[in-house]
Amino acid sequence: MGAPELDVAAVRAMFPALGLSVHGRPLAYLDSASTTQKPKVVLDALVRGYETACANVHRGVHALSVAATEGYEGARANVARFLGGSPDEVVFTRGTTEAINLVAESYGRAHVRAGDRVLVSGLEHHSNLVPWFRLCQAVGAHLDVLPIDEAGALELERLDARLTPRTRVVAVSHVSNALGTVAPVAEIAARARAAGAVTVVDGAQAAPHLPLDVRKLGCDFYAFSGHKAYAPTGVGALWGRAELLDAMPPWQGGGEMIASVAFDAITYADPPHRFEAGTPDIFGAMALGAALEWLSGLDRAAVARHEAALLAHAEGLLDALPGVRRVGRAPERAAVLSFVVEGLHPHDVGTILDLEGVAVRTGHHCAEPAMTRLGLEGGTVRASFAPYNTFEEVERMVQGVLRAQEVLTR
Ligand code: PLP
Repeated sequence: MGAPELDVAAVRAMFPALGLSVHGRPLAYLDSASTTQKPKVVLDALVRGYETACANVHRGVHALSVAATEGYEGARANVARFLGGSPDEVVFTRGTTEAINLVAESYGRAHVRAGDRVLVSGLEHHSNLVPWFRLCQAVGAHLDVLPIDEAGALELERLDARLTPRTRVVAVSHVSNALGTVAPVAEIAARARAAGAVTVVDGAQAAPHLPLDVRKLGCDFYAFSGHKAYAPTGVGALWGRAELLDAMPPWQGGGEMIASVAFDAITYADPPHRFEAGTPDIFGAMALGAALEWLSGLDRAAVARHEAALLAHAEGLLDALPGVRRVGRAPERAAVLSFVVEGLHPHDVGTILDLEGVAVRTGHHCAEPAMTRLGLEGGTVRASFAPYNTFEEVERMVQGVLRAQEVLTR
């Protein structure tokens, strides 16, 4: 007997937005790498927080504030479980971008000096590149790049040469949002550690697809966004190794992040609160906790098989279309399919697909250097998959591409 199949119809029924029509067609949502749709349990958790525990956290003695604090800290425990860390190592942020800026501005400013080096990969989303670029510029450090090959895989054979005695930070995405490449993060982190550098992993695209264990990965920081993992927008998390967080200075200052304040001396709270200045997204965090519980409650191996099958189906159909070229052929890929159509701008293809009710992403996917490396200045069309997607939706996308060829080259 084979492994159990994912009950896709049951999953779809949990997502109110999947019943929408777009331009008179049923919505085929193939843009989950941008943001996922949200299951009803997550929307309910968000509303329930506001309806039953709407108060500020940590500083109230009244019942609602206690409920809000318990819910918020309970969500931190959910995130810790999801990542394989401990709750004290989980900082709530607005998302991946803010998490990486936090590491660059706090850990980076404290440890990266003039003449030091920061290594990023050639695949990075701008959010794991711009903060490092800015840090290097500010302190006089060098930004090095681990290049990608034509297939969109990291050129790991060049890693040792890029890891110099002055390399302080290696910043790499676990899964590329533009090409789907899965990076061998455990290997990179081990080699970085041996060279004396810390590894910062952008897990925005990995969190929804791969089982995670930050200790097994051996990285030092791991960032992800709730909204790409079935939670609301505006909340995400940074996991940091306890001993690193303990020694890090605050980034933003304000309420919540202090132990005591006077005009002549301030002491800061312990992590993670040291890094959470101001009122956080309390109910978003609770909904994130609910989303991760929901995701963990699915048969994740079955989800992975389903997403891989959707990807393989889409690849097979697109490969049979004249004038269509898939981009990103690294040996290990996750739930993302990028392609270009000869003679057509990706935005035009995306617009025709939208008229067919099919939502895809087009452009450079905030990974301009990777697009430039592959000679794709106009970017690509990107379809991305989630457990709620069907083979029929994939087929509709391929029909839409045919239609775009027909309409736009007439
Ligand atoms: N990193 C990757 C790989 C992404 O795909 C994205 C979003 O597309 C981000 C970082 C930025 O995430 P956010 O905008 O939620 O901070």
